[in-house]
Amino acid sequence: MPHEVKGVVARGKGAPVTVETITVPDPGPGEAVVDVQACGVCHTDLHYREGGINDEFPFLLGHEAAGTVAAVGEGVTNVAVGDYVILNWRAVCGQCRACLKGEPQYCFDTHNAAQKMTLADGTELSPALGIGAFVEKTLVHSGQCTKVDPAAPATAAGLLGCGVMAGVGAAINTGGVRRGESVAVFGCGGVGNAAIAGAKLAGATTIVAVDIDDRKLEWARQFGAIHTVNSRATDPVEAIKGHTNGFGVDVAIDAVGHPAVFEQAFHARDLAGRVVLVGVPTPDMQITLPLLEVFGRGGAIKSSWYGDCLPSRDFPMLVDLYRQGRFPLDKFVSETIGIDDVETAFEKMHHGDVLRSVVVF
Ligand SMILES: [Zn+2]
Ligand SMILES: [Zn+2]
Repeated sequence: MPHEVKGVVARGKGAPVTVETITVPDPGPGEAVVDVQACGVCHTDLHYREGGINDEFPFLLGHEAAGTVAAVGEGVTNVAVGDYVILNWRAVCGQCRACLKGEPQYCFDTHNAAQKMTLADGTELSPALGIGAFVEKTLVHSGQCTKVDPAAPATAAGLLGCGVMAGVGAAINTGGVRRGESVAVFGCGGVGNAAIAGAKLAGATTIVAVDIDDRKLEWARQFGAIHTVNSRATDPVEAIKGHTNGFGVDVAIDAVGHPAVFEQAFHARDLAGRVVLVGVPTPDMQITLPLLEVFGRGGAIKSSWYGDCLPSRDFPMLVDLYRQGRFPLDKFVSETIGIDDVETAFEKMHHGDVLRSVVVF
């Protein structure tokens, strides 16, 4: 029988979100219904509300979530009722050309639920990133459920479903940070600080955090930054060279996604270094780089999709590292809030007052 539950909906471009009654169908073949326990508020949710992703309103927001599997459809074998899972937005298909090449982290045909959740009047909802988890129950493809150790609290574990994984993965998967390397991270919100924590986890010895907000730089220190640079006051490229014997860093990570920042990251790396873009640009943005420098510096310029993660490999590992006290997942949780407080949380996030607000159910 379909369920009627409360969920957070963005009805139109720029309009404040509202809490509505959502109808969640029983899971069909390959699908699962999950009782959401906690879901973080991410910039991408705000981006949807502002019409920055697409115009397929109304959106059911929320996508950084953990919960318990409540029901599974026909043919589901990877999870069972009662399993504790983190939701992911890249359920790999196993059959596309990336998967067949043995690179499922790049899967070009990821799965989402085939059925739609709806408003009470039958209007179909577009779930944010194919999840939609500011809701008591949600319908997803079973591949979007990654089973992890239930001892990790949902408020922290859920964050691995998006921002924290993107940041950690930018450092350890895309950037391939190794022991003893130097890393600079531009932008110290949730994703940037996760990249800093990832660099620390990988054994980087020099970690430089760059931001224009001193509060965020203070957070960055708590996640493992050794040096901080306020780029409003100081040229970050010069400062980074100053911390690396004049050479620049092995890995420069742009967690902002802005041309000026990307250029700083490009120029702040050492010869043969890697530049990683994990911040998401907008369609109007362009960059111009000196081509001789692109060649002459060698190394690599890489984009990081969702931290190039493989949820089945990376989520349980990071949860285990968290449980062992080696990865500070709970430090990303600034506050827990109710389902009615998402609009207020957007304000706080926009002003940089919080790293993550997390809705608990
Ligand atoms: Zn695939
Ligand atoms: Zn997100």
